[in-house]
This record gives sequence, structure tokens and C-alpha cells, in this order.
Amino acid sequence: MNILVLNAGSSTLKCAVIDPATGFVTWRGVAERLGTAEAGLTWSCSPNSAEHHAVPLDDASIPGACAVIAALLTDVAYAQIAAIGHRVVHGGCHFFASARIDDAVVSGISACIPLAPLHNPANLAGISTTRRLFPHLPQVAVFDTAFHQTMPEVAFRYAVPSHWYDRHNVRRYGFHGTSHRFVAQEAARRLGRPVDDVRLVTAHLGNGCSACAIRGGRSIDTTMGMTPLEGLVMGTRSGDIDPGMFAHLIRHAGIDAEAVTHSLNHDSGLLGLSGLSNDMRTLSAAADAGHEGARLAIAIFCYRLAKAIAALTVPLGGLDALVFTGGIGEHSIEVRSRTLSYLAFLGLVEDKRLNLHHGRLAEGRITAPSAACALVVPTDEELAIARDTASLVSRSPA
Ligand code: ADP
Repeated sequence: MNILVLNAGSSTLKCAVIDPATGFVTWRGVAERLGTAEAGLTWSCSPNSAEHHAVPLDDASIPGACAVIAALLTDVAYAQIAAIGHRVVHGGCHFFASARIDDAVVSGISACIPLAPLHNPANLAGISTTRRLFPHLPQVAVFDTAFHQTMPEVAFRYAVPSHWYDRHNVRRYGFHGTSHRFVAQEAARRLGRPVDDVRLVTAHLGNGCSACAIRGGRSIDTTMGMTPLEGLVMGTRSGDIDPGMFAHLIRHAGIDAEAVTHSLNHDSGLLGLSGLSNDMRTLSAAADAGHEGARLAIAIFCYRLAKAIAALTVPLGGLDALVFTGGIGEHSIEVRSRTLSYLAFLGLVEDKRLNLHHGRLAEGRITAPSAACALVVPTDEELAIARDTASLVSRSPA
């Protein structure tokens, strides 16, 4: 069985045809620069194939990109797609697990648009288009927020007037749930223990970054909040700030709230601190060459990450394993090393040789033997979406 996994964003649409049992990808495509005259689709027919194809998209909308993809997939006879799984960013309090898509689920996702005004409309555009193009296929929504719906009230409430929560859904939701859940299961497997039995902090470090405390296989706290802006330092997002900064900038710098919000999302984080780039590879190379801004950005990134990891051990009551994942978590020897240098008091002492090899020598482990360990576990959100889709569809046939 193959699942078509779709991740429709505001300017990019990624899709893959995946066998959920083996993780084998038979087709992968990405439509980029949607909404512009330069929109185009590139695709390849297997992960190992060097052959990449590209076409410009005359219709640069999500429905336009989906129509081209659908036409290409009918040519790929071996695709044998049994269902479609959609990544959906915000499920609010409506969704605490993945859901088989019907009109009620579409309404639930629409109701969450105020919480994710850029992402949910794009996700919905992908869903409505594939429901029209593939009416015979069951479709499933997999939410970034759903895994965190198990957080207790002490973790998800802000200390703000209660009616903001009651009337305006102002609370912490958390994101990257598909990735945190996937690597938690994989980490437990590597430790040879049931996921219900391990206390984990998972650190998903990509362009967006978040960490999560997982006990009994459930998220009990996480660093992202009502929006993906809260928490760790990220590529272009600030993470935690003093909200008093808003009034200060509006009063004294002549910037309005919209502009401050834009800068906190797009001009901050590693990019803002370094004045150079949001990309950790560029920053590492620049720091090695003596770039002060790059050095400072990496130092603050690791310091804030270590503080957040330590804080997340409080709800866990200890720690069995810290898991690094995402582009930075899986590949940056320096970020892992500097972060671990703050965490020896938790029993995490870097093994330099194991870290140098990204944990590949010891089932992901990069620390010296101890009661707690740090692991590198590659994430695969597409595979997680494919698995959820297959399992929901097999449990509830149309
Ligand atoms: P996204 O959140 O867009 O999926 P990724 O998970 O691909 O992002 O992570 C992107 C980040 O990973 C970038 O900061 C990139 O520099 C970093 N990264 C990727 N490869 C390496 C590497 N070899 N060393 C250090 N950082 C890396």
C-alpha cells in the first residue's frame, strides 16, 4: 500500500508517495515559489534516483500545483495510492489525534484559522483540492498540535486574564508534535524500553525549533506556545521575549505592532543575532572564520536550548534520554556538544567520538554510559503522516 503525503504551505507544497510499512518513497515532489511568476515543480521517482525533473507552473496556486501532481501520478503506474495524508498545522483544542477527513473535520480546521492564519488556509486548500481530484481516496489530517493536547492545565495556561482563555482560546498549544512523537517512539525502541516507560526530552531543531517533555509516551510540556514563536531561538524567530518589548518599540522606535510581529518571526533568531544568516551551516563556517555575530548567535542558541531542556526535566521528575533531531539536531556536532556542555549535572557527558559520528556508532547515543543519555534520532514527519493515515484508514474503512 502507498500513501500520498501532502504538506501544503503558503509558498511551498511538498508531497511524497510513501509505503508506510517500509518507509520506501516511490515519488517525491516539491512545488516552490507558489503565488509568484517563478513557481515551479520539481520531482524525482525514487530517493536514490539521480534523475530530477522540473516544470514551470502556469497556475501558481495550490490547486494548480495539485492538478499537475495528480496528472504526473497517473503516469506513475506503480504508485498504487490507497489514501492521502495531509499535514495540518493547527488543530486547536478540536483535535487530539489524527482524523479521517470529512466535512466536520474540514469545519474544525477552518475554525482554527484565527490561530494559524497563514498555515491553515493553505492546508485547507490542499485538502479541498485533493478531495476534488481524488474523490475515491480516503483522506486523513495529521496535526502538528494534536500530540500536545495531553499537556496538563498547569503547562498549557498562561498567567493572563482567564477570559482571554475562555473567549479567545489564548493558551499554549505546542507544535512539531508529529516529529516529537515519531522520535520518541524511535528513541524508546533504540533504548530497548517501552515508550510508556521512558522520560524523554526531544529537541526538534530545524528552521523552527522546539523541545518537548514526554512521559508515558505523552507530551506533558513543550516550548512552543499559542503560536510557533514561543520558546527556543530559531532560524528567524526570536523565541521567548519580554512582551513589554512591544510597547517599548511601539512608543520609542515608531514601529507598529504588525511590524514588530513580522520582525520577531522573520528578522530575529539566528538571523537577527548574527546579522548574517538563519542557516546553521553558514553560521558555523563564519564563526570558525572569526565572525563575531555568528559566534554570538550560536552561543545564545545553545545556551537557551540547554536552559529549556533542563526546565523540561521538572515535569518529568528526571531524565532517561535527551533526543536531538531536525536538520541542526541531526547534523551539527558543535550545537550538540555546546548544549551538552551545560548539562553534565543531569548525567549527560558528551562522548566526543560518538558525537563526531552523529551517534551512528551506538544506536544514536552520543554520551558516555550513565543513567541518562543523549541520542541523535533522525526524524521523518512524512513517514509518521503516512503511518497515521494507513492506520486510520484500515481502522475505519469508508
Ligand atoms: P526545516 O525546519 O525547514 O525542515 P531542517 O530540519 O531541514 O529545516 O533544518 C534546517 C537547519 O539545519 C538549517 O539551519 C541548516 O543549516 C541545518 N543543517 C543542515 N545540515 C547541517 C549540517 N551538516 N551542519 C549544521 N547544520 C545543518
